[in-house]
Amino acid sequence: MKHRPRNRRLGPVIAIANQKGGVGKTTTSINLAASLAALDQQVLLVDLDPQGNATTGLGVDKQQVPSATYDVLMNEAALRDIVMETAHEGLYIAPASMDLAGAEVELVDVPDRERVLARAFVEWDGEAFDYVLIDCPPALNLLTINALTAADRVMVTLQTEFYAMEGLTQLMDTIRRVRASFNPALAMDGIVLTMVDRRNNLAVQVEEEVRQYFGAQVYAQVIPRNVRLSEAPSFGVPVLYHDMRSAGAQAYLKLAQEMLERDRNLEVERGENR
Ligand code: ADP
Ligand code: MG
Repeated sequence: MKHRPRNRRLGPVIAIANQKGGVGKTTTSINLAASLAALDQQVLLVDLDPQGNATTGLGVDKQQVPSATYDVLMNEAALRDIVMETAHEGLYIAPASMDLAGAEVELVDVPDRERVLARAFVEWDGEAFDYVLIDCPPALNLLTINALTAADRVMVTLQTEFYAMEGLTQLMDTIRRVRASFNPALAMDGIVLTMVDRRNNLAVQVEEEVRQYFGAQVYAQVIPRNVRLSEAPSFGVPVLYHDMRSAGAQAYLKLAQEMLERDRNLEVERGENR
């Protein structure tokens, strides 16, 4: 089993995954990335979902991008060649294009097809990033496997509804398989509860259950259901630049702070164990 060599120019690479659609992966990718950038981090968001909603949500027209994550997966472009600036300081996007939908099939013929994205990170010779987030498609397919193989950590978004825990077993199995075959160092980043409505008794119950089961792996900060979060993509901006005072914007800022704090504590622990 080979350990993935780390590229020192890149901070933690975090795959945002859940094979269920509509559980807040893309919303979290966009808004966590923007919040980290607002907190002075250099952030790269990699759009690995053929729907390209993270790309459009950051104001980039996916029909106009010259090259995109598809070209990286097909070994036709280096990652640095596809990275674009956004309108927001410190926030960059590796966009998705329409043809990413075909990548799943075309990857089958690519040698070492599970590690293409991982290799792109190892070969990264562009500027330094403090965080790299990957928005995964709603499937446990080769695109998601590429993300998990390239990542240091996986963040799972979970909607607090009746079937929330269902499907999580399948995701955990996939994470174990990726660890065993491609990326032994893959760690759990944490679980983020999204679209939380605490006026709903069932949602409160589900939250309790998830916290009981997963303990400290669940972020203390939850993301409330907030209409500003669903509006922002139509303006092509993260919610911070749509309505900074909204509950959604504030929640993602606090989530970013919680992540930064966790990572600072990890650094301190590592220092003490040295
Ligand atoms: P996924 O990427 O997992 O498929 P999305 O982030 O695209 O999920 O979210 C699915 C839908 O729910 C989108 O229309 C999005 O705008 C909306 N949405 C996501 N999070 C929230 C939230 N906290 N409050 C309100 N709407 C949300
Ligand atoms: Mg999505």
